[in-house]
Amino acid sequence: MEKLLDKINKGIIARREKEPARDYLGASSAGKACVRQWQFSLLNVPKDKPFTAEKLRIFDVGNMYEELAIKWIREAGIRLDTHDKDGKQFGFEYKDANFKGHIDGIIYYIGKRLWECKSMNQSSFKELIRKGIKESHFSYFIQAQIYMKNMGLTEYPAILTAVNKNNGDIVNIEIAFDSFYADKYINRALHALKDIEHGNILERESPSETMEKCRMCAWNKKCWDRKNERIFEK
Ligand code: SF4
Repeated sequence: MEKLLDKINKGIIARREKEPARDYLGASSAGKACVRQWQFSLLNVPKDKPFTAEKLRIFDVGNMYEELAIKWIREAGIRLDTHDKDGKQFGFEYKDANFKGHIDGIIYYIGKRLWECKSMNQSSFKELIRKGIKESHFSYFIQAQIYMKNMGLTEYPAILTAVNKNNGDIVNIEIAFDSFYADKYINRALHALKDIEHGNILERESPSETMEKCRMCAWNKKCWDRKNERIFEK
């Protein structure tokens, strides 16, 4: 059956290759560790290695958990809106910058709140419970802050539903609005986008290629091996 697997993998990769490259900075990336990473992505520089079919299947499975969480919440009789009356995902965009966000939903549970869903493996799930969202998953914390501010959903804490991919456990975490972090990370994104627009090469936000954020970065080799003038060559 190896041939069948090959065919499936090729189909997954072909679908990915047809997807248009993202030409804006998503708020989901705004809390991520390095602004130069955004520049690689926005300039559509190929990753050191393209995503494998295995990795793309993991992304698909993650999306499936979100659909399930929506179903579970609605089955509980709780109103959860994920799209507007025209069938579009709720979101926002900045008129003068390539900065946008699309939220998972608006939940009506003890107030009207931002709702976000994340699926994660066992250790990540446990860490979330043990340390709290800000310490364990800072980029999710920032994403929620930016969404709350731009969607005007600041009165009540957001709810993040995390699904444990190993066993289907769920936990609902409240994230209170914090204008300091919302403003700080919106400004960071807008400044970086301006610099990118002006053709400046953004500084690495890491002292070494062996730091965790660099080891996890899809442009590690290009970032550290190339001279500045060639850094964004395709
Ligand atoms: S390799 Fe490190 S410094 Fe370079 S873009 Fe990626 S995260 Fe930033």
